[in-house]
Amino acid sequence: MNVLVLNCGSSSLKFQIIQTDLEAIKNDQDKVLARGVIERIGSQAIITLRAVGQPALKTAEPIRDHKAALNYIINWITDPNTKIEGIKELSDIHAIGHRVVHGAEQLVKSVLIDDNVIDQIEDCIPLAPLHNPPNLKGIYAARDAFPGLPQVAVFDTGFHSTMPEQNYLYAIPYQLYRRFKIRKYGFHGTSHRYIAYRYRKIKGIERDKVNIITLHLGNGCSACAIKGGFSLDTSMGMTPLEGLVMGTRSGDIDPAIVEFLIHNEGATVEEVFNVLNKRSGLLGISGLTNDMRDLLEEEREHQDRRARLAIDIFCNRVKKYIGAYIAEMNGVDSICFTGGIGENSPEIRARCLSNLDFFGIKLDEELNQKAVGIKEMKISAEDSRIEVYVIATNEELLIARDTVRVVLNVPRIW
Ligand code: AMP
Repeated sequence: MNVLVLNCGSSSLKFQIIQTDLEAIKNDQDKVLARGVIERIGSQAIITLRAVGQPALKTAEPIRDHKAALNYIINWITDPNTKIEGIKELSDIHAIGHRVVHGAEQLVKSVLIDDNVIDQIEDCIPLAPLHNPPNLKGIYAARDAFPGLPQVAVFDTGFHSTMPEQNYLYAIPYQLYRRFKIRKYGFHGTSHRYIAYRYRKIKGIERDKVNIITLHLGNGCSACAIKGGFSLDTSMGMTPLEGLVMGTRSGDIDPAIVEFLIHNEGATVEEVFNVLNKRSGLLGISGLTNDMRDLLEEEREHQDRRARLAIDIFCNRVKKYIGAYIAEMNGVDSICFTGGIGENSPEIRARCLSNLDFFGIKLDEELNQKAVGIKEMKISAEDSRIEVYVIATNEELLIARDTVRVVLNVPRIW
């Protein structure tokens, strides 16, 4: 089955075409046939498209909206010069998988999209006003472009639906949960689930033996405590603003700061949340950039004090969550790093895990340095009490696999 995986952000559309079926899933032999991204939708868009084995097409063109972006991709797919293996015309695409950020309490498992599901995703918009609307735009555009083709929604929140009440409730009046469903939902669930799945495969163990902490460190960052194969706790909350320090997001802060800024700065609520979402985190502390690579360089080359401070605060927050989750889970077998930073920065991994001798965590320096841009690798020393892995995430693959299983009505087993 050839699955088109769509991931629509506010001004971007990422896609992959993945050839997979139940046999390929079992043998880990799924195949990426093409991938691409259209960024800055709504103005002069930057377009990068690539059929595997062919040179990439890079261009810039005005693209009005997500529908126009999808049409652009469709024209490219069906262009005889493109040469995607096994795909000549649109009917060679057999299903579409959509990343949807928020499914709230009602949409937990990956599901075939129908009008009722669309209504429910729309109902979640107040909980994810920045994310669900572009996800829906992708769904509407795909329904128009591929009428009758099965489309599946895979939710970022889904994996965390197993968190117990004591972990997902905030200590605020219970009626607020009843009335508005204010609670922790957690995000990056597809990534945490994929890492847990790969870990299980690497170790050759059953799902119920997976007791790990996964650290997704990219532009957005989150930690997840996975016990017995299920999400027990995670750092993001009702929205993706809570938890770890991120590129531009603050993560955990005292909520009284919001009121303070409104009163003392004369800021509106929207302005304060704009600061917390877009001008905080690594960017806010350093005053330089949200890009970890650049911060590390500033620190190394120019001994920039605030770049160092931003990195130190980032790593210390990760460390705090590791400690909290080890306590919450009564010990863990492994810690797994993923995401742009987690997969590529030996230095950040080492700083997050420094001075954790009490827990018996010890990196193998050489292996840690080697684990850059690789698929997966153990980086802890042989005598480390807790193992440490780097595992490259692959949310698109999991979305494609879920799509196959939902279309064929086969229960999900990861
Ligand atoms: P993602 O959102 O997963 O694509 O991750 C983006 C983040 O990964 C950015 O902050 C990048 O600076 C960071 N990143 C990518 N490569 C490296 C690297 N070699 N060292 C440090 N950070 C990196």
